[in-house]
Amino acid sequence: MPAGWKHTPSGWISGNCPMCSKRGHNPDKRGRGGIRFEDDHFQYNCFNCGFKTGWSDGRRIGGKLQELLTTFGTDPADIQRVNLELLREQEAGDIAGQYIEKPKEQKVQIDWPTVQLPPNSYQIGEYPTKELDKKQLDKLALACAYIMKRGLDFCEDWHWSPHMHFANRVILPFYYKRKIVGYTARWVPEHRPDAMPKYYNQMPKNFVYNLDKQDKHNTVIVTEGQFDAIQVGGVALAGNTPNSIQCKIIEDLDKQIVLLPDFDKSGIDTVNVAVKNGWAVSFPEWEDDIKDASDAVIKYGRLFTVKTVLESIETNATKIKILAKARCR
Ligand SMILES: [Zn+2]
Repeated sequence: MPAGWKHTPSGWISGNCPMCSKRGHNPDKRGRGGIRFEDDHFQYNCFNCGFKTGWSDGRRIGGKLQELLTTFGTDPADIQRVNLELLREQEAGDIAGQYIEKPKEQKVQIDWPTVQLPPNSYQIGEYPTKELDKKQLDKLALACAYIMKRGLDFCEDWHWSPHMHFANRVILPFYYKRKIVGYTARWVPEHRPDAMPKYYNQMPKNFVYNLDKQDKHNTVIVTEGQFDAIQVGGVALAGNTPNSIQCKIIEDLDKQIVLLPDFDKSGIDTVNVAVKNGWAVSFPEWEDDIKDASDAVIKYGRLFTVKTVLESIETNATKIKILAKARCR
């Protein structure tokens, strides 16, 4: 390791990431690169530029790791020599049948099937209202009012359907590669019968919402709910504890990952997943009664909300845990 890299209590060795400037970011002066060694593997992760690489037993030194090592000052001839040795080991291992190519290094193959929205769904603003009776029109009006009230009217893709309980909901289609692969339908009226779920979800396995919208950002904001994700232009997990495939799908975007947890009890579980994966976490200084991005937007507006999320990014695992204890309760 180069001089100046320090061990942290969480098991990482951190220091200034040499890749930031190479990847078009400002040079790292805040020790946002981190490397973690374990028994048979290690990982490198930068919270600033999002550069990620590593090595595990049975593998050779890959292109990204080579780039990191040479930036650190390793002689390329040494890398080549070690790789030859690893190749020999690998071949010997293959014969012994010990090493199987580890699938986690490959991108997750996403195969979410296309689905239909509920019957007679149309975009809310373009609903053919001639076909609706008075009662249905009232419900449609209520759905529109809900979207306005929550500051979600900039997103034009809200749908509505007069079909059964959907009449009392606003429908948000889930797109992947511009095809509808699911939706959530949120209950609108103040009164909700006990057995009636607030969100009616139709989503594929290991779903991550809003991947299509991530190509323009350097930073991916991860939220728990889809409505929060819309507000901050981020992605959403389905639930507060994503599984390893969902995490991998987000990491496959190859960007800086920042979790914006819900500031309630369950938020702590999501924070733990983030820390385990080496993601950063944002703790914006919002007032106490604000639990998520949706609340914040109503109070502060969208621009201010996104600005505070991006300005309140914490990358140090110990600090993240302390802040989570104080804020997620
Ligand atoms: Zn970096």
